[in-house]
Amino acid sequence: MSVTTTNTRITYGLDIGGTKIEIGLFDNDLKLIDSWRVSTPTQDYNEFLNAIAALISEADKRSGQQGTIGIGMPGILDKNARVKSANVGCATGKPIVADLEKLLGRSVAVANDCRLFALSESCGGAGDNKPIVYGAIIGTGAGGGLCINGQLYQSGNNIAGEYGHMPASGHLIQKYNLPTRQCGCGLVGCSEVYIAGPGLGWLYNHFGSGSQSTTKFVSDLRDKDPIAVKTFDCYMAFLGSAFSTLVLSYDPDIIVVGGGLSKIDEIITALPNAINNHLFDGVESPLILRAVFGDSSGVRGAAILGKQHAENH
Ligand SMILES: [Zn+2]
Repeated sequence: MSVTTTNTRITYGLDIGGTKIEIGLFDNDLKLIDSWRVSTPTQDYNEFLNAIAALISEADKRSGQQGTIGIGMPGILDKNARVKSANVGCATGKPIVADLEKLLGRSVAVANDCRLFALSESCGGAGDNKPIVYGAIIGTGAGGGLCINGQLYQSGNNIAGEYGHMPASGHLIQKYNLPTRQCGCGLVGCSEVYIAGPGLGWLYNHFGSGSQSTTKFVSDLRDKDPIAVKTFDCYMAFLGSAFSTLVLSYDPDIIVVGGGLSKIDEIITALPNAINNHLFDGVESPLILRAVFGDSSGVRGAAILGKQHAENH
């Protein structure tokens, strides 16, 4: 019989990206006690699984126990628990949860990384103690998730909260005389192609700047350049419209915003009014706050998922 010298149960949070896999070891109070990264094998599925197994084995060695495991990755898990991920091509179509559980000999919880961002912010982050928290990423893509009482809302298609792939407002497309653009998801005219980082860059170029750089856009906006100002007005209209659908769908107590574009003060400041412009009288934007756990939300959210999964099973 083993002797337990501590009550601390360690949870491992893994954040799988297209280039790196990061692992964070968290104690009972979600304090990060160790973390490191390795390269992501994206070509060969067995290499990919083995890289995760090696990380877990090293984590077991460092923690002196078999920690519980939560994993976040870009893409979606369909209703048959098969992954669809543009960033980790070799995992697409594979039953990653079943394969990892077989390989690791323990339970594994996997979810989309944007949804885990929401979970992290609803547990100890900007949305702590708020009953209904929507976490929205505006970065390379536009994704998010809904949390109710500190738990990620998950159901059949594992898709609730994917606001980036709701259709962009036809009214705004007409008003700004824009083409309906093809989205990477296969649909046409999704919000993401106007509101994510590349969408903002596209708008800026479309209005005549000759540049798709969001850094140049921000600097020009601060210099009150007319093309940057026009781009900002258009961008905020699309973002406000997209977020207004979150209010109408979920009526959250707070929307926590993360990702690269959330670091632009002008966007965060203008957002509540931009949302209100798309809501009728008597309905108002909820509190909008920037995320507390920026870049660490991936491993942290994954660890919370792993911890909650272990507690519920
Ligand atoms: Zn789409």
